[in-house]
This record gives sequence, structure tokens and C-alpha cells, in this order.
Amino acid sequence: SATKRGSPPVDDVFTIAIDAGHGGVDPGAIGLNGVYEKDVALAAAKELATMIEERGGYRVVLTRTKDIFLPLRERVAIGRRSGADLFLSLHADSINDTKVKGVHVYSLSDTASDKEAEALAAKENKADIIAGIDLAAHPPDVSSILLDLSQRETNNFSADVANVLVQTWEAHGLKLLKKPHRQAGFAVLKAPDVPSVLVELGFLSNASEVKKLSKRKGRAAILEALANAVDLYFKTVVPKG
Ligand code: ZN
Repeated sequence: SATKRGSPPVDDVFTIAIDAGHGGVDPGAIGLNGVYEKDVALAAAKELATMIEERGGYRVVLTRTKDIFLPLRERVAIGRRSGADLFLSLHADSINDTKVKGVHVYSLSDTASDKEAEALAAKENKADIIAGIDLAAHPPDVSSILLDLSQRETNNFSADVANVLVQTWEAHGLKLLKKPHRQAGFAVLKAPDVPSVLVELGFLSNASEVKKLSKRKGRAAILEALANAVDLYFKTVVPKG
């Protein structure tokens, strides 16, 4: 569907890109029980895709459906090519302190996004259409400004998504990490025109969470809450017309 935010998708279907973190030679974190983050992320991505599609009104695109390595930039590109209205990257965290647990979400910080917007403007073909603006039609300096504006607007939407996620997780009674909405310069969140968040489903370094996240049944509650949050975001935050 169309990615121009503020207007409904042309086909009345929102497109969600779900990105299973890591893969192939990159296992991500390794859990207390030996489970790989890349496998938890892929299983979760597929399960979440099914949950979202079952609600109707959504098309889901997965950045990977197999255990393969994908560069971060390629993940972003898949989201943009698919015309995604939302990009969700799924991960599971790990830390030295085995007591730390809780779901949390990252959105892109302003400072990091400005640099990336510049880099993207230089690297990518200027014919790219950012938020419906044909960059090839403008001189380079104007294009950078448009790209910057697009990134800023997108960052606001990404922060909205993260806030809806946190509220929904709280409403579902899930265990949240202290300060559950964080901001950082994740490369995978740097699409200038697709609201993007990175979800850490929990900690593979925590005995109870790794046990939960290793099994479909254990993942179900958090993924259901995530599907509800996505639905809530599109029904309440994204303006129609
Ligand atoms: Zn990860």
C-alpha cells in the first residue's frame, strides 16, 4: 500500500514489514539454554505475521523466512520496496545480569537520524521517491532537506508506535523493562519514510524469559499483545484521509 502517511493506503490494506533479527552466520545472542536469538526471532516473526494477517486489513512482508544472513541495509530496503507502512524488527536481548528481564522497544533517536539521512541521500539513487516526493526532480541540496524533513516526520511516527506498544504491553500485564521505550541509532530503523521500531521480546540471559521465548506457547502472549498494538496504532494514531 502507499506509504504517504496521513492518507489511507490506496488498496485499503496496510503493509507491515516484519524483520527477524540476525540469521545465517550471525546467530545474535545465545540463550542460557543454548537457543539462538536468530531462531527465536524468525519463529516469532512468522507467528506474529500469522496473527496480524488473521485480523484482516493487513499485508505482512517478512524480510527473511529462512536462516539466512541479511545486511541491515537490505532489511531496510525490503521494507521500503514493499511499501511498508510499518517496519518491526524482532530481537531478544542478552545481558550479563541474569536477573534483568522485560520486553522493550527502540525507536531511532533524532541525532542519529540526521547523519543517516545525509548518508542515505548521498548513497541512494536520487530518483528514490521519499514520502511521495520525486527527489530526482530537485537539486541535491533541496533533496537533502526534503529527506531530512521526511526522516523527522517518520521519527515522530516511530515514537508513536513505540508508545502504543508500551501502553498495550502494560494493559496486557506483561513484564516490561525499566524505561521500556528507548532511542538509539540502529541502522535497521533508518528508513526515512517508514515508521520503524525494534522490539526486544525479552532477555535470553534470564532463565524464565529464555524458557518462554524458546517455545511457541511461551511467545504467544507477547506476540498477541504486539499484534493488538499494531492494530491499535493503525486504528487510532494513523490519521485517515
Ligand atoms: Zn538482536
